[in-house]
Amino acid sequence: MSAFSFSAAPIDTAGLAGPLASPAAGGFAAFEGRVRDQNEGRTVRSLEYEAFEALAVAEGERIVADAVRRHGATLGRCVHRTGRLAVGDVAVWVGVSAPHRAEAFAACREIIDAVKHRLPIWKKEHYADADSGWVNCEHAAHPAVAEFDYSRQSALPEVGTTGQRRLAEAHVVVVGAGGLGCHVLASLAGAGIGRLTIVDHDRVEASNLHRQPLYAIADVGRPKAEAAARRLADYNPGLRYVPVARRFDAELGAALLAGANAVVDCTDNFAAKFLVNDAAQRAGIPAVIASVYQYEGQLQVVRADRGGSCLRCQWPEATRDGLVGNCVEAGVLGPVPAILGQLQALEVLKLLLDLPGQLQDELLLVDLLEHGQRRLAAPRNPACAGRCVRVDAAAAHAPPATDVDLRLPLAAAVAAGYRIVDIREPMECAFEPLPVSGQQSMPLGRLLDGALAVEAGHPYLLVCAHGVRSHAAAEFLRARGHANVWSLAGGLAAQS
Ligand SMILES: [Zn+2]
Repeated sequence: MSAFSFSAAPIDTAGLAGPLASPAAGGFAAFEGRVRDQNEGRTVRSLEYEAFEALAVAEGERIVADAVRRHGATLGRCVHRTGRLAVGDVAVWVGVSAPHRAEAFAACREIIDAVKHRLPIWKKEHYADADSGWVNCEHAAHPAVAEFDYSRQSALPEVGTTGQRRLAEAHVVVVGAGGLGCHVLASLAGAGIGRLTIVDHDRVEASNLHRQPLYAIADVGRPKAEAAARRLADYNPGLRYVPVARRFDAELGAALLAGANAVVDCTDNFAAKFLVNDAAQRAGIPAVIASVYQYEGQLQVVRADRGGSCLRCQWPEATRDGLVGNCVEAGVLGPVPAILGQLQALEVLKLLLDLPGQLQDELLLVDLLEHGQRRLAAPRNPACAGRCVRVDAAAAHAPPATDVDLRLPLAAAVAAGYRIVDIREPMECAFEPLPVSGQQSMPLGRLLDGALAVEAGHPYLLVCAHGVRSHAAAEFLRARGHANVWSLAGGLAAQS
């Protein structure tokens, strides 16, 4: 039996108390939180609870186990309702047995408070006059006096009601709620992103405040993820905020990124950036990565969803943080991470709204002293140690590397960065064009005359009708020192 669980059905309080009895327990304390018929003077008809269960159950179990251990209790159990509840229904039940009453009371109280403050559970109240928006349980106290209005944004023809709806249905994960993250979060909450997951294991420090305006002096010492979620819920209560006060790692990444539309990297060190990059590759979602150093910043959008180049394509594994430093060592003016964070938020909105000018396979370099911006090509590195080269699985079925034939879908080869060379005659090409675009056309005769300029560092895939001419051409080029040239096995005929 799990110490914490959710229940979509009414909670059976008597059935829950029974198993907590023990001959060694002289005290038993139980708490029932029930749905009230009014809130701040308004009549409540019913309410709904929704939870991010994958995360909440693990965290809930930790809360119960910690309270039981800390207070020397014997057993503890907590059940939270989800779905629609009527007035008088039990919304949350906590039971603790302990050797004496004091331990039972104290542990029970701690569990109630922690469940209310730490778990990603949202509440929507249905009033007699109107309904509230979804709010994190902690913030359910005050009904909004006005509605958050997106009209200045949806007035853009590229946004409109369709775009606004797309944003409301989006889920974006922000890793790091510091100098970059505060600005990303504020802008994305303002834009109406329906669900924002905030990952940060740090606590607010006084030295953060000058560049992290989501936090107030009173937040110093509090977990950043929770303080940010609280502040944002005051700012725009209609959205869902999932605070995750844990260090981002591969396991957490897999849980949080599944089903998300994008992840934004706002960390301040390379080790964490590589983790975000890799998690995005595995989840197949875009990652918007930024870093700042003194008066400069860099922005890269890793389109893992489109087979784009990744962070590891540009930076070798051995890249160490000592190489560039971070805010702690190097110092930073508040507007620098603010501007880079806003650029990250902008790229997220561009990709969610499918606006033109999106960064892909590029680095954006920003120099804020000289007000310079440059877009540099950052193509896929065929030797990338990351997972961005997605033909791995297809290549596993290909003949051994001594052969030149490669059997894989042309689209996958394009996605993996192969330069496609169509070596058929112009008549053949016109009659049956390749099912991809961007290829180079180079009839075999001209290729054998040495007309193909093979650029080192890029893989080439030669294509003909049945894979015979391309095989010969690849061997011809290999013999001239071009090791990274391949022939599409079976040619175009084998593609259908
Ligand atoms: Zn890569």
